Amino acid sequence: MGDLKFGDAFDYAAAPETTPVPLQKQYELFLDGEFVAPSSGKYFWSVNPSNGKRHARIARGEEKDVDAAVRSARKAYEKVWGPMAPAERGKYLYRIARLIQEKARELAILETMDGGKPIKESRDVDLPLVAAHFFYYAGWADKLEYAFPGGRPEPVGVASQVIPWNFPLLMAAWKIAPALACGNTVVLKPAETTSVTAMHLAQIFQDAGLPPGVVNIVTGAGETGAALIDHPGVDKVAFTGSTAVGKAIAESVADTTKRLTLELGGKAANIVFEDAAIEQAVEGVINGIYFNQGHVCCAGSRLLLQESIHDDFIARLDRRIETLRVGDPLDKNTDIGAINSREQLGRITKLIGSGIEEGAELHESSAKLPEDGFWCRPSFFTGVSASHRIAREEIFGPVLSVLTFRTPAEAVARANDTCYGLSAGIWTDKGSKIFQVADQIRAGVIWANTFNKFDPTSPFGGFKESGFGREGGLQGLRPYVQLG
Ligand code: NAP
Ligand code: MG
Repeated sequence: MGDLKFGDAFDYAAAPETTPVPLQKQYELFLDGEFVAPSSGKYFWSVNPSNGKRHARIARGEEKDVDAAVRSARKAYEKVWGPMAPAERGKYLYRIARLIQEKARELAILETMDGGKPIKESRDVDLPLVAAHFFYYAGWADKLEYAFPGGRPEPVGVASQVIPWNFPLLMAAWKIAPALACGNTVVLKPAETTSVTAMHLAQIFQDAGLPPGVVNIVTGAGETGAALIDHPGVDKVAFTGSTAVGKAIAESVADTTKRLTLELGGKAANIVFEDAAIEQAVEGVINGIYFNQGHVCCAGSRLLLQESIHDDFIARLDRRIETLRVGDPLDKNTDIGAINSREQLGRITKLIGSGIEEGAELHESSAKLPEDGFWCRPSFFTGVSASHRIAREEIFGPVLSVLTFRTPAEAVARANDTCYGLSAGIWTDKGSKIFQVADQIRAGVIWANTFNKFDPTSPFGGFKESGFGREGGLQGLRPYVQLG
């Protein structure tokens, strides 16, 4: 082994998850409280991104199924869930939260198998937050008049919710829990590449005795999502995903009375001042971009470094990315799992190519990648200018773009030089600088001396092309109530 110095990378023994996995061969639609075959009889494959193998068949819901789901949700809203005493609704949500906790380990494994994220993230971040969201909103169910004093909150009706593949269960929880707490019913469309855990969540709804139709889940492609959003029986649309699809949705609901909230892309600045605790900032920057392979809308994908610390910081980042363990997402030691899909890997690779072409310098880990499946080494670019595509477009992968600044004013100008406004990070030892800079950054979430911290009590959402409306916290109730 030679002389091992503190901080050297060394090999761990493999530590794969050993819990048996309850993956089914085939998943049906969840309509009116039952698991039913799609009207078309068609299915599509979900792939395990860590080996590229098809591992489950998913029902392809079409317009007819969407229509059945919306009708079921309407009936449940009018006959059961709407009229139910709020405290009773809360009891269902508590029961769901407890069942999620009980099944957390197997749900985490499924999330990792179907989506590619490391088990330590699905187990320690995603699942605890999923349960916490249901617990949190369960608590609000019978206290809505305190959330909106004097407002006499009423539910909105039937909500159609379309979610992405980066946090499949967590996005489902963010959407479903506040909707139900306020007395609405739901039709949810998971992302094509990550439908498996949504169907296990449906099983939990059934096990909890949630009345039929309160939540319906229709799996399928983009057209299924479009059919759901365009359905005339829907009162409220909630979407998380790409800005392009978000804009199309905004157009399609523009001449209706449907309410809309959009949570779209981001290109967050993570700003490190020379007076920051440097080692801590390095860890924060690493977590900010490589968490969940960078499949994070609020990822700190633009690192803004104060010029005086640039060379030292880059040297530390070079060393740190070498120690990140890339590989089997089910291994408990893995830091960077698989890219969610071949398509996403293609998008990331293209943008890395554009960075090289436009003259930025690529720093890449030398990690050996598994042969099968979809993989991308953690990397970052130096010598990036504000006009480069890698500084402007969402890469949604483990690729960081580094820019520099001299003064706080320049840092603010650079941070705001984007069409997005979802999140930002500030690293400094000086509290007054945190407030001064945070006040001037147009972003919905700003972390100070930390990054990618989530909590159900805290609202999340964007400015500008990152969308509108808030999820989480008391603010997350607002899209799901009408005030009389
Ligand atoms: P996307 O197309 O916006 O997908 C998000 C969700 O919308 C999925 O459930 C998708 O279904 C559905 N969908 C697609 N077209 C639709 C339409 N016309 N009407 C209604 N629903 C529709 O995102 P993507 O193609 O998976 O990813 C592309 C890029 O979007 C990424 O590279 C990333 O930059 C960004 N992104 C952002 C977020 C975020 O959290 N803000 C999340 C994911 C992706 P299918 O899965 O069946 O297509
Ligand atoms: Mg999959």
